[in-house]
Amino acid sequence: MNVIHEKQERHGLLKRLIILTGLLVLVAMTVLLAGCSSASKRVTSSTGDAAASVTKESLPTLAPVNLNAGQKLQVVASTGIVGDVVAQVGSDLIELTVVMAAGQDPHSYEPIARDVAAIADAHVVFINGLGLEEGLQATIEAAASRGQPVIPVSAGIKPLQMQGDGDHDAIEVPKGGDPHTWFDPNNVLKWVDNIEGALAALDPAHAQDYAARAQAYRQQLQDLDAYIREQTERIPPGRRKLVTDHQVFTYFAARYGFEMIGAVIPGFSTVAEPSASDLAKLVARIREAGVPVIFVGRTANPRLAQVLADEAGVRVLSLYTGALGEPGSGADSYIGLMRANMDTIVQGLSKP
Ligand SMILES: [Zn+2]
Repeated sequence: MNVIHEKQERHGLLKRLIILTGLLVLVAMTVLLAGCSSASKRVTSSTGDAAASVTKESLPTLAPVNLNAGQKLQVVASTGIVGDVVAQVGSDLIELTVVMAAGQDPHSYEPIARDVAAIADAHVVFINGLGLEEGLQATIEAAASRGQPVIPVSAGIKPLQMQGDGDHDAIEVPKGGDPHTWFDPNNVLKWVDNIEGALAALDPAHAQDYAARAQAYRQQLQDLDAYIREQTERIPPGRRKLVTDHQVFTYFAARYGFEMIGAVIPGFSTVAEPSASDLAKLVARIREAGVPVIFVGRTANPRLAQVLADEAGVRVLSLYTGALGEPGSGADSYIGLMRANMDTIVQGLSKP
C-alpha cells in the first residue's frame, strides 16, 4: 500500500470517527431533551389503550342534538388534516374548530386553554385515533368520560404494523400499529364514512346535505388515488424505496408498492429516540439499498436526518407528514398535501 493511499485511508477513518462521535452527541442531546419534557409524554406513549384500534361497532351511538333555529353543530377536529376532511363533509353547516395549526406536530402537540374550552363546548370531537394525538390524549379522555362524543376517524381501518425486521433497540412499537392512516386515500374514504355518519346522526335535518358533500369528496379522493398510481409509474420499480424521519408511510407503501427501508426514528411517533446502533444500521441499509434520499417531515427536527444523509452520501427532501402546510403553500388541504408529497417523492426517486 503506497503512502498516499494510506493517508486517504486514515483520513477516511478519522472522518467516520468524527461523524460517529457527532451522532452519539446528537443522540445524547435528544435523550436529554426528551428527559426535560413532561413526563406525561412517556406515560401516554407507553400505554397500549390509547393506540388500540377502534372498530366501527365500538364507536359511540349518537343521539340528535337539539339545535335552536340558526344554531350550528359545534365541531372540533384535532389535526389540520382531520379538520380539512371534516370541513369537506360539514362545510358551512357546522361550526368547526381545528385544534392544531399548520406545521404543528400531531404527536407532541399539547393543548392550550383555548383548545380545552373548545373541546368542552363541542357537540362532537373528531380525532385521528390509533394513538396519534399523544399530547391531546388526557384532554380527549376527559371529554369522553364526560359523555362527549369522541370519534376516531380511523375507526374501522385495519392498523398496519411496521415493515421490515424490526431490528432496533430504542423503540417500543405501539400495539395499535401505524396511526398515519391518511397516507392511503382509500383509508380517508373510511374517514368520510365515519364523519358523515356522525354528523348525520347528530344533525339529522341536514343528513342529505352531508351525504351529498361526502359523495362529491369521495370522487376527489378516488382521483387522488389515481394520481398517486400514475406518478408512481414514473419511478422505476427498483427505486420505489423509502427512508423517512419516523415511520409514516406504512399504508402508502403497502398500497402503492413501495418498500420501507427504514426511518431515522424507527417508530410511529416523533416522541421517541433512536439509539446510536439504530442509526449506524440505517446508514448501512441506505447504502445497501441504494436509496438516494431521506424524506423528512416539515414538523420533524431535520438535524439528525441531515447527519445521517451526510454519512450515507444521500440528500434530504422535505415532505408534509402530520400537519397541513401554510395557506397558499399548495399543501393547505389534505389532497394538496398528498399531491405535493407525491411530486417530491417522484423528484427524489425517479433519477439516480
Ligand atoms: Zn407522525
